Amino acid sequence: MVKSFLEARSTILDSVSPLGTEAVDLLHLIGRILAEDLPAPWDMPRWDNSEMDGFAVRAADCSPLSQLKITGYLPAGASADGLSVKPGTAVKIMTGAPIPAGCDAIVPIENTQSDGETLLIQKNVQTKDYIRCKGSDIPQGRIEIPGGTVLRPTDINLLAAFSLPTVQVYRRPVVAILSTGDELVAPGETPASGQIIDGNSYSLAAAIREIGAIPKILGIARDNHNSLEEKITQGLEADVLITSAGVSTGDRDLVREILDAAGVKQQFWKVSIKPGGPTAFGLIGNKPVFSLPGNPVSSMIGFEELVRPALLKMLGHTEVLRPLIKAVAKTALYNETTKTRFLRVMVTKSTTGFSVESAGDQNTGILSTMIKANGIAILTPEQKEIPAGEKVDIQLLSEIS
Ligand code: AMP
Ligand code: MG
Repeated sequence: MVKSFLEARSTILDSVSPLGTEAVDLLHLIGRILAEDLPAPWDMPRWDNSEMDGFAVRAADCSPLSQLKITGYLPAGASADGLSVKPGTAVKIMTGAPIPAGCDAIVPIENTQSDGETLLIQKNVQTKDYIRCKGSDIPQGRIEIPGGTVLRPTDINLLAAFSLPTVQVYRRPVVAILSTGDELVAPGETPASGQIIDGNSYSLAAAIREIGAIPKILGIARDNHNSLEEKITQGLEADVLITSAGVSTGDRDLVREILDAAGVKQQFWKVSIKPGGPTAFGLIGNKPVFSLPGNPVSSMIGFEELVRPALLKMLGHTEVLRPLIKAVAKTALYNETTKTRFLRVMVTKSTTGFSVESAGDQNTGILSTMIKANGIAILTPEQKEIPAGEKVDIQLLSEIS
C-alpha cells in the first residue's frame, strides 16, 4: 500500500476538516481564523465628523480675510445636538467631533487666526473640506472581514470598533505527540551508552505551536505492548495523535500493531518519498493519527510535507500548502531514487530571482544540513537531475530577504 506523495497528501487532506468553533475575546484573537462573516453593524464612521482640529463653517462665508463670529465649541465626544452654524458664524471643533447643523466645511486651525471671539479665515474653503462622511469608510452591512480570515492586529481593531467583545473562531486542535523507543531519554537526562535523547517531541511541538495548534507531549513510550498501549490510549483523547519511530520493519516496531488494536484504521503506511517514506496515516472516527519515522530529519520532513497541511486545514486555513517558488540551481541537484525527493537546500534571493544549492549531505541521519537549510527542493520521481542553471521547485521554510 505505497502511496505517491501527492496521493498521500490528498488522502490526508480529504480526511480532515476544521474542528468546531469557539467564542474568543479580542485580546486573544491574533492569528486565529474567523469562523463567521461579520457584516458592519453600523456605518463607519457613524456620523459626519471633523477630520481636523479647526472650525466648522459655511464654505460660502469663507474667503481669505473674511471674519466670522465664534459661537460655540465641539470637542470630540460632545454632541452636536442644538448647535448650528448660522451665516457669518463658526463653531470651534476638534477632530472626530460630529458636524453641527448648517456646517458644510471644516477650516483647519492652521489656516485661521483667532482671538477666541472672532475668526479670521486665511485660505479659500471648499464645500466638504475636511469632513469625514457617515459610512464613507465602511457602510452598514458590508462584510469587511469574511469568515476564513487569519486575524491581524488591524482586523482586530475593526472587530473592537464593531463593539464585539468576542467573535467565533475555529477551535485549535490539541495535537498529542508520542515518541517511542527503548533507547530514548528526555532532554536534561544524561544518556547512558546506547541511549539517545528525544529531540523529535520538541521539534514537533515547536512546529505545531508555530502554526497555532496546541502540542501535548505524552513523553516516551517503550517498545512494548503495555507501554505503547497506555500512551496511545492517552494520545487518542487529543484531536490528533502523532507518533514518531517504531513504524519501520524492525522487530521492535510495534506502533502500527498497537494502533490497529486501538481501532485506528490505517489508510496507508508507506509513502513514496525520501526522506519520510515510512510514514503511516490512520483514522479513528474522524481523528487523524500520523506515525512518523524516528529519524529526526525524516520526522521533520514527514511533518512538513504531510502533517502540517492537515493541521492547517483543521485550524481553519484555506491556504494549507506552502507556495512553490522556482529557483535556479547553482550546482546540479540529484534524485537518485524512484520517489519524490526532498532535498535540504539553501536558497538565496537576488534582483534576478531565487537561486539554490544543496545544504550538503542529504543522508537522513544528518541533522546539521537540515539546520543549515532554509528551503526544501522537491524533485519528482522523474526528475533525476536538475542541471546547474535550470529551475527547480522550492518550498521556503523561512522568509529570506
Ligand atoms: P526507528 O524508526 O524506531 O527505527 O528509529 C529510527 C532512528 O531514529 C533510530 O536511530 C532512533 O534512535 C532515532 N529516533 C527515534 N526516535 C527519536 C526521537 N524521538 N528523537 C531522536 N531520535 C529518535
Ligand atoms: Mg525504534
